[in-house]
Amino acid sequence: MSADTEPTVVRPVDPTTGEPLGEIAANTVSQVDDAARLAERALGEGWRRDTRGRATTLRAWADLLRAHTDELVGSLVGETGKPVTEARAEVAASADALAYNAGMARYVGGRAGALPDGAQAHLVREPVGVVVFIVPWNWPVLLLLRDLAPALAAGVAALVKPAPQTTLVTRRVLDLGAEAGVPKDLLQLLVGGASVAQAAIAHPSVRAVAFTGSTTVGREIGVAAARGLKRSLLELGGKGASIVFADGDVEAATDASLAGSVITAGQMCMACTRLLVERSAYADVLDRLKERAPQLRVGHPAEESTQLGPLISQAQFDKVSGHLDVARADATVVVGGERTQPEGTSGWFLTPAVVTDVDVGSPTVQEDIFGPVLTVEPFDSDPDAVRLANATPYGLTASVWTGSVDRALRIGGALQAGTVWVNGHNRSYPEMPSGGYKDSGIGRTRGVEGIEEFTELKHMHFSLPDEPDPAGTPR
Ligand code: NAD
Repeated sequence: MSADTEPTVVRPVDPTTGEPLGEIAANTVSQVDDAARLAERALGEGWRRDTRGRATTLRAWADLLRAHTDELVGSLVGETGKPVTEARAEVAASADALAYNAGMARYVGGRAGALPDGAQAHLVREPVGVVVFIVPWNWPVLLLLRDLAPALAAGVAALVKPAPQTTLVTRRVLDLGAEAGVPKDLLQLLVGGASVAQAAIAHPSVRAVAFTGSTTVGREIGVAAARGLKRSLLELGGKGASIVFADGDVEAATDASLAGSVITAGQMCMACTRLLVERSAYADVLDRLKERAPQLRVGHPAEESTQLGPLISQAQFDKVSGHLDVARADATVVVGGERTQPEGTSGWFLTPAVVTDVDVGSPTVQEDIFGPVLTVEPFDSDPDAVRLANATPYGLTASVWTGSVDRALRIGGALQAGTVWVNGHNRSYPEMPSGGYKDSGIGRTRGVEGIEEFTELKHMHFSLPDEPDPAGTPR
């Protein structure tokens, strides 16, 4: 959408009811310009050098998030339609990301050593400068803080552009950051859609962009960043496969994979969307899915027992329904995939679908549907499992369920995915990096590696003039 046609306000909507939640003015290009210049100025030497201050601030922010859990959970449920239990998990994980990175703000890394001519070298990491964070709506607080907390720990300044749908909860989280002590202007909210994000990326004060969202938009952002020779961290779409071997705990694998397929009603990059099952266990797995999938509770997200809330919008509902129509034509939808309207709702709800007889080349297997749709495919051997699992353009996550350590290591090593879980699914930790192979992205978020994404590397060289250079290399 061009700047001329993009709306001048954002209007978040409650996906459970379709009711508007408010109206927030979008930023103009000149406001983006002001924000970027102020952020660069705020970066100054104080924040860049004050590792203890950054640690204290991030820890205070974690505490404030925990103290405001109920309020934030209410906002998350209202703006995303995610079940209240999931919203609570999101707030807890977000506070944990801040707490972990509070410690990491004081981490001293780098390398030092003698060079062949006797000179001394130091490698130091410095904050990259002003970074733009562009965030999706599905896990708006965690996916923001997953990247923002390490970036602030590294000492950057930040412009945050949330998805329009989740502008309100993001604004509240940033207000809590200011209350915790993040200096004024160093962290600012940008409101709007594509044109606001693009104006921020293009701004000369901005040195890097951290984007989480669809592969299509990620490609555009990577190109825009490259044009200005800026760094881009791209966390994109996924098509997670769960690979179940008959020598493992097949029942646990089936239940965890089904649960993993309906997180945020399937609107999650790390969701398990494909279940690959060794042929000897296939019939049992399918029977279990047919029994269990209809028992998952689709309901009002504010109710404690709800496991699936609504899809985010009519457009997303239509997109997922279109994929289900294709699956009905060229595969078999064995259960679910129907519209349902829980009591007290008027939004966009679907029952979880299980699809079989599906060709690996079909759109149901190849595309990031972003809805509660799980395909089940049999395989006949270890190489067949690897071939099927790697046969999509995505490479974000995969899981291997087996009782054999050798097999887990062999299969895990052959999978093209940034994260491979063995006998588990959907486990993320601020300590460990995650990210995508292939069309699932570039770079890593979380862990030491996630902090390094927001730094520049400097070689400092200390000459010792009295030492002759033994190799006579140019200096
Ligand atoms: P999206 O790509 O449509 O939007 C993400 C963000 O980019 C929003 O803030 C949006 O306003 C902005 N945006 C949209 N078009 C833009 C453009 N042309 N230029 C600049 N900014 C633009 O994604 P979404 O619908 O909000 O989220 C769903 C997608 O995100 C799915 O594909 C999902 O797999 C992916 N996702 C990935 C991860 C991950 O960690 N890899 C996590 C969550 C979601």
